[in-house]
Amino acid sequence: MAQSLDPYNREITYLRISVTDRCNLRCIYCMPVQDLKLLDHTDILSYEEILEVIRIASDLGVRKVRLTGGEPLLRRNVVHFVASVCRISQIEDVSVTTNGILLKEMAVPLFEAGLRRINISLDTLNPLKYRKITQRDCFDAVWEGLQVAEAVGFSPIKLNVVAIRGVNDDELQHFAELSVQRPYHVRFIEYMPIGRDSNWSPEKYISSDEIKCKLETFGPLHKIPRAVHDGPAERYRFESAVGEIGFISAMSHHFCPSCNRLRLTADGMLRPCLFADDEVDIKSPLRNGRSQEDLKEVFQLAIARKPKRHHAEVLVQGECIRPMSTIGG
Ligand code: SAM
Ligand code: SF4
Repeated sequence: MAQSLDPYNREITYLRISVTDRCNLRCIYCMPVQDLKLLDHTDILSYEEILEVIRIASDLGVRKVRLTGGEPLLRRNVVHFVASVCRISQIEDVSVTTNGILLKEMAVPLFEAGLRRINISLDTLNPLKYRKITQRDCFDAVWEGLQVAEAVGFSPIKLNVVAIRGVNDDELQHFAELSVQRPYHVRFIEYMPIGRDSNWSPEKYISSDEIKCKLETFGPLHKIPRAVHDGPAERYRFESAVGEIGFISAMSHHFCPSCNRLRLTADGMLRPCLFADDEVDIKSPLRNGRSQEDLKEVFQLAIARKPKRHHAEVLVQGECIRPMSTIGG
């Protein structure tokens, strides 16, 4: 196996792919309600092109792929595409991040396509608040989708919760109880100033440490030792809980020293760091019919451009303008 090390000796084994910038929600930290600038369809990579990038990545040592968006389940024939990704023998781990709205209908076909791991974004357990955060009245659809995904056998089911002060920080007890009663991994994600529509401000940001302190008022949190293939989440469990609590602290405790990932944007750019708009174009060489060897060089160039660490703590709003919906989170 070709091993791909970046300049700081980090092995790149994980590719996150935004398959579309379209979405059926308008989350306040991600997409605008008005003046939405969507990519031209011709600029979005075809499934065949994405598969080509995954094959190249796998030849260079990538073993894990996450499909995201926009809302990945909105893209036509996505189940067929997921099955194709699952068939790439060198890719050992395929997962999807979704807002869950379409899971009620799609959980079974996705499972049959070979998918086993799913992340569902759910920032609140209150339907009215859900509407305020996402600008759509879809809480019940997501909740039903979550139940179907669980019944079908997806495991683990991770729930992504972007913590926003004054918006959902009054619901920590409900999320804590959910992790005790259900086998879900509730993961608090720090709000990040990424994308021109993130609406981020220091006042709305809550650190993972603060959330953890508040959660500990409901009972002791027991740390779960890190497994080799764990991502950046710090994992905990309440006493006798069937689920888990996790913290993804990209802002406060950046995990750059162990960063193992590249991102592929919906319009075919390889993005070395989530927090920087420095990107390497792989779409043009793909469409110009360049050889596999040339494409591998492009991929390696993106790896070589990974910065040592991000500086999100000094990132000002507007500095990182690429919309989150084309990066995928
Ligand atoms: N539509 C899918 C979903 O929402 O799960 C996948 C795409 S979404 C861009 C991927 C993840 O990024 C979601 O969990 C979302 O909550 C997160 N996200 C989007 N904007 C964010 C921001 N400004 N700060 C932190 N997380 C963000
Ligand atoms: Fe859509 Fe996901 Fe962005 Fe929400 S976070 S607007 S669901 S892409």
